Amino acid sequence: MANNITLPPNLQDKIHTDDDAIKAASTDYGRIITQNPVAVLFPSSVEDLKTLIGFSFNSSVPYTVAAKGRGHSVHGGAMATNGVVVEMTSLSKNGSNKIVIGGDKASGFYVDVGAEQLWIDVLNATLQKGLTSVSWTDYLYLTVGGTLSNAGISGETHLKGPQINNVYELDVVTGKGELLTCSKQANSELFYAVLGGLGQFGIITRARIVLQPAKAKVKWIRMLYTDFDTFSKDQETLMAVNERSSGEILNFLEGQLLMDPNSLDFYPREDRPRIAYLIKQYGILYVLETASYYDDSTKHSVDKKLHQLFKSLSYLSDIYSKNVTYVEFLDRVHTGELVLHENGLWDVPHPWLNLFTPKSGIQAFNNGVFKKILLKQNFTASTFLVYPIWDDNMSAVIPDEEIFYTTEFLLSSGFNNWQVFDNINKEILEFCDKAGIKVKKYLGYHDSKEEWINHFGSKWKTFQDRKNQFDPKMILSPGQKIFN
Ligand code: FAD
Repeated sequence: MANNITLPPNLQDKIHTDDDAIKAASTDYGRIITQNPVAVLFPSSVEDLKTLIGFSFNSSVPYTVAAKGRGHSVHGGAMATNGVVVEMTSLSKNGSNKIVIGGDKASGFYVDVGAEQLWIDVLNATLQKGLTSVSWTDYLYLTVGGTLSNAGISGETHLKGPQINNVYELDVVTGKGELLTCSKQANSELFYAVLGGLGQFGIITRARIVLQPAKAKVKWIRMLYTDFDTFSKDQETLMAVNERSSGEILNFLEGQLLMDPNSLDFYPREDRPRIAYLIKQYGILYVLETASYYDDSTKHSVDKKLHQLFKSLSYLSDIYSKNVTYVEFLDRVHTGELVLHENGLWDVPHPWLNLFTPKSGIQAFNNGVFKKILLKQNFTASTFLVYPIWDDNMSAVIPDEEIFYTTEFLLSSGFNNWQVFDNINKEILEFCDKAGIKVKKYLGYHDSKEEWINHFGSKWKTFQDRKNQFDPKMILSPGQKIFN
């Protein structure tokens, strides 16, 4: 018995209620919300998860359960007030869930991976066999279960779809405590529900992920623009060419706003004063970012193809490029993380806002948000185009338009002033509302059930029906505040 809930006696050794365990499970990367669970489970097997959830399901007073990957949510998504948080990474400690590569050249390769594993470990393990996942996130110290519960997006999404599009099969412990294997063919309703499902329908314990042959090197390129229309037109051109050529030339396409003259490390030293001057003159520069993966056999042709491809674009005078290893490129955000850790700037509040903005509203978004709200505050953002190679059966929500942009305002603040930043996020959302730009939040939270219903739109009924089917007692993922 912990507080007023009764927990499975046979998990006693693995359930912790000490201050350290509770504290670690009561906060997340956002550092905005604090919610104490009653207890924390450190599972050593999938059986432990079945026992924990099954016990709650069969109890007259069910307790809530939240799977926590690395707690990189920003608004309490992996928390469970007065419930039980499951520290998923504990599953990897006894090696019960390894990273196992399967398949063959003819039918395609895949990797079976425990959902508690970090993507960086998946990358390192698969590269040993010359293979790699086809769709990544910009940051790799996230769990497989955590990103599959959202979508998992980056510069490969326009070509390969988000990570949730590149899964063959899942093992899931549902809200009834049953372990089911699901795929597009078997238990498909559960499969689609769980992908992008914010942890509402079950805890993923294993994912079978699509692999492809890896290349060793990356040509990483940035081009600068002063005009948003030209920048977005060029992004679309590249996207269309890329689609036609099945991504033979560009493997990755993103974009950013450049507003800080002190963040010019990527660019040659001799060009930095000129770029800083342009920032001063225009306030915002738009950066088109691409990456092309290559190896010894394609080393010479890649430059030629890129030269040809970029000929029709309208960037400012120069193309800035670097040759880096594949791992250096994919793990690029971690380098920045280490610097932030060193300076005590990683574990601070993160009042983030991530939006999917439909193409029809992106010009107005640039004028109202980038050029007015952001420039006034001198905050930066990244933005890139996404084609919805997105299976609409899945739970993840996107705008109701063929093409949309993802726009990320990844803000950090002090412990006492995150509300100031949060108010800016509200100002951005209010602007979109007034301007009729039908944005959808990614990784977002909503304050009320009505807002969630509005978020899911035409998908709400399916989402609710699936909840009733797979977690009828509303046990799972209470921190998202959708049903609890
Ligand atoms: P958690 O935050 O622990 O969990 C997230 C949600 O999933 C919770 O609701 C939790 O209950 C649920 N959950 C966790 N594990 C499971 C499981 N096994 N089964 C079912 N539900 C589960 N996202 C992108 O798409 N692209 C990016 O490029 C990207 N970059 C990021 C960079 C940084 C620095 C950070 C902090 C986040 C980034 N994210 C990105 C967001 C990331 O996808 C989310 O934070 C996500 O929640 C993964 O984090 P996590 O593994 O710590 O999961």
